[in-house]
Amino acid sequence: MGKERIVILGAGESGVGAAILAQKHGFDVFVSDFGGIDDHYKKQLIELNITFEEDRHSASDILNASEIIKSPGIPNNAPIIKEIKEIGIPIISEIEFAKRYTSAKTICITGSNGKTTTTLLTYHILKNAGFNVGLAGNVGNSFAAQVANADFEWYVLELSSFMLDDMYSFKADIAVLLNITPDHLDRYDYKLDNYAASKMRIIQNQTNSDVFIYCSDDEEIIKVLKKSQVHSKKMPFSIETKIEEGAYFLNDNIHININLNDPLTMSITELALQGKHNIYNSMASGIVAKVLDIRNTTIRESMGDFKNIAHRLEHVAKISGVNYINDSKATNVNSTWYALESVSTGVVLIMGGVDKGNDYNMLKDMVRQKVKAIICLGKDNKRIHEAFEDDVDIIVNTFSAHEAVQVAYHLAKKGDTVLLSPACASFDLFKNYEDRGNQFKIAVKEL
Ligand code: ADP
Repeated sequence: MGKERIVILGAGESGVGAAILAQKHGFDVFVSDFGGIDDHYKKQLIELNITFEEDRHSASDILNASEIIKSPGIPNNAPIIKEIKEIGIPIISEIEFAKRYTSAKTICITGSNGKTTTTLLTYHILKNAGFNVGLAGNVGNSFAAQVANADFEWYVLELSSFMLDDMYSFKADIAVLLNITPDHLDRYDYKLDNYAASKMRIIQNQTNSDVFIYCSDDEEIIKVLKKSQVHSKKMPFSIETKIEEGAYFLNDNIHININLNDPLTMSITELALQGKHNIYNSMASGIVAKVLDIRNTTIRESMGDFKNIAHRLEHVAKISGVNYINDSKATNVNSTWYALESVSTGVVLIMGGVDKGNDYNMLKDMVRQKVKAIICLGKDNKRIHEAFEDDVDIIVNTFSAHEAVQVAYHLAKKGDTVLLSPACASFDLFKNYEDRGNQFKIAVKEL
């Protein structure tokens, strides 16, 4: 009998990681990418003698697989996926595949916003506590590649809804759901319910020895929880109400009540991450740490000295009394709301790009209170003009980060904040959100 054939669609970080792991376990592996493959990944495939194709999906090489591993970026309406589904070949995600080959425990973090921040903070605390822990998933490192090369006892995994969609047997030992607000609805038939159902897969297969940590202030989470069966131990966190077993915020302190003999209280001034949204993120990570019995002193130190990665409310410079903040990773309306929430009035807001069917209404109050000018950065800014023309006196169009920063510089006065928090995707003018943030930072440094 020949070897079992696994076909991997998409040759990015997760696809190539899956290929490495599949080859290690003796499968006949074929990788197919509809676009061009990055040199870095192509080199890895060639070195390992893994067969691949690029710029096409050849049905004859794909439809003979016994299982397909699909990269999260490929939508279900791609023609090849329709063909695979018609034949009935099972499609799974790289995360589902990798978990078959490790007995490591997993802390899985999802939500519309705050995933990367909370994943990195959690990982930082576990590392400081001496755990043998890996970091993987949407944060940028393939889970499968790590399982193939250097398995850990624990993993902190950032999971996007696209990854969760193709997970079936996988179970998180500790699941974290930060929030559910509209995003990526183009992949969910424009139905929030579908997107929410995908996020809820974070608790699939959990039993009463597992833990489910979630934000109980989030209306959509509460709504879906009413319809869901939760078998794991629930540990909510909230800013609005006191929580018996979980975490809450009162009088400028976060309280983490997990081990009731040894609760943890931290002033928000001690937290490295600032802003209301980061109180949520810190509470979520804090609960994970307490569930794992990490000492309060370690948690306190780690939450105090954590450094987030770039492009998330990143302070770039203070020039003539004006703060310049790069929040390029804010690619939906909700994250821009939290960015505005975290700064004081007098904001020159740089926003815009590729509109994902955004509803700007939720920003209107915040914009009226705090924003003195909006600088649109994108090819087509019509919807932003329409949304805010009654709320802000100045709305101008710009078509490069350099131009946007120059205009902002002339509009901002001492004490103001120039905030890049686009609420939109970046690919009309930039390669990705990192490129947008980097170009913004370069333009600020040239001032
Ligand atoms: P993700 O990985 O989910 O995209 P990030 O941690 O990269 O989230 O943060 C992206 C942006 O979302 C940040 O720049 C910030 O403005 C916003 N944000 C972070 N945490 C939260 C949260 N808990 N709720 C709402 N917005 C948030």
